[in-house]
Amino acid sequence: MVLTCLGLEGTAHSFGAGVVTSEGEVLANVWDMLSPKEGGIHPREASRHHSELGPGLIAQALQNAGLSPAEIDLIAFSRGPGLGPCLRTTATMARAIALTLSVPLVGVNHCVAHVEIGCLESGFQDPVTVYVSGGNTQIIAFAGGRYRTFGETLDIAIGNMLDTFGRAVGMRFPAGPIVERKAKSGKRFYPLPYSVKGMDLSYSGMLTAAKRLFNEGVSLEDLCFSLQETAFGMLAEIAERAIAHTKKRELLLTGGVARNNRLTEILEGVAERHDAQFHRVSPSLAGDQGAMIAWTGILQYQAGDRLDIPSSHVLPKWRTDEQDIVWRSDL
Ligand code: AMP
Ligand code: MG
Repeated sequence: MVLTCLGLEGTAHSFGAGVVTSEGEVLANVWDMLSPKEGGIHPREASRHHSELGPGLIAQALQNAGLSPAEIDLIAFSRGPGLGPCLRTTATMARAIALTLSVPLVGVNHCVAHVEIGCLESGFQDPVTVYVSGGNTQIIAFAGGRYRTFGETLDIAIGNMLDTFGRAVGMRFPAGPIVERKAKSGKRFYPLPYSVKGMDLSYSGMLTAAKRLFNEGVSLEDLCFSLQETAFGMLAEIAERAIAHTKKRELLLTGGVARNNRLTEILEGVAERHDAQFHRVSPSLAGDQGAMIAWTGILQYQAGDRLDIPSSHVLPKWRTDEQDIVWRSDL
């Protein structure tokens, strides 16, 4: 029997609703991102955004999928990691729908969902994943029943670094695409702190140095170019080491920062050097959205995983490697 799952994503500034079938067909995927005119994301404002726009987005997703609520077999929601108020608002909607429709509820790990939607789209079986977004920077690969974090940022995420730099130099949010555009006309490379520690990396030193150089009058184009080359070079180094050690043959790039063409080009080069296939998740599935939650919910449900409402509390600090990947027991 084909199952249809409604997935709700709401870990940070975006709220999304997606509808996916157990055959891997994405029937609907709509979202809205809170983008403050100035400053960063306030968790309370983001959760208010979700509670105000969530019901409309859910209705829109069902309409786009051409389904009535009664045709949904299962509800999945992003249970963590993320901002507590945002997670709780999203979980409350998911519980209410599950109770109203009398359908099972599944809690999905947001980072795991980024990997699984990439595997669905690419057909990859067992990739090394570079997951780069506003809130996360991780190199992930399956080993011993879990998605292990082989490397990650020790401080801020790469998207956060680009956005914070952008804010300091007068760009609007999100700054990532603006930095990418400006970097194209950068000519001179300014050395910035290249901070790789084993398999982990750190972006805060680079951010401080780039802001200082900007205040000293260095051209914005040159700085954007230098920031990208340094930040992406660090990611390439640990991704390459992960591929070399795990001997996996697929490299997957996902998360909001995957929209960057220069990063894609650099990682394509890494994959080529190691005879690995490369896939960049398409823009509509790269950022935070509900389809990835719905699809991962289906995988979990089919493997027997479901949540009782009373124990469906959210997990703001849920790590990628704390979820048993029961649906991949064959690997
Ligand atoms: P997410 O957290 O997955 O919703 O992704 C949002 C993040 O992706 C923000 O930090 C954006 O600045 C970043 N981003 C989006 N497009 C690009 C791009 N072309 N280059 C670099 N970063 C980007
Ligand atoms: Mg994300």
